[in-house]
Amino acid sequence: MEYDVVIVGGGPSGLATAIRLKQLNSELNICLLEKASEIGAHILSGNVFETRALDELIPGWKELDSPIKTMANLVASSCSKKS
Ligand SMILES: Cc1cc2nc3c(=O)[nH]c(=O)nc-3n(C[C@H](O)[C@H](O)[C@H](O)COP(=O)(O)OP(=O)(O)OC[C@H]3O[C@@H](n4cnc5c(N)ncnc54)[C@H](O)[C@@H]3O)c2cc1C
Repeated sequence: MEYDVVIVGGGPSGLATAIRLKQLNSELNICLLEKASEIGAHILSGNVFETRALDELIPGWKELDSPIKTMANLVASSCSKKS
């Protein structure tokens, strides 16, 4: 198979690169290779996520069906209540 772009690694960098390239040219045939069993398989225990880059990459992502639901300040205050 032939591709215009092959991206090695499905972490945030590889995924953002694939999304941005498709935004710039939806005709591009892009292959993203990930050695893990699935995207995100290396995540250990959730994450704390600074959304500025996502705001720039996908404006309006909060209105889409995103799995990012919990505000970090809510996480921080619930953690501090437990200690
Ligand atoms: C323990 C830990 C906790 C963290 N917690 C947070 C957090 O809460 N919030 C936060 O913002 N950041 C966190 N980080 C940092 C964050 O994980 C990195 O900044 C981010 O993952 C970097 O993205 P990346 O795409 O450059 O690399 P990676 O996420 O490492 O992605 C690289 C991908 O390439 C794949 N790969 C490598 N070699 C090959 C190959 N030869 N063929 C195919 N696929 C390959 C890997 O499997 C991997 O999926 C944490 C990091 C660690 C180690």
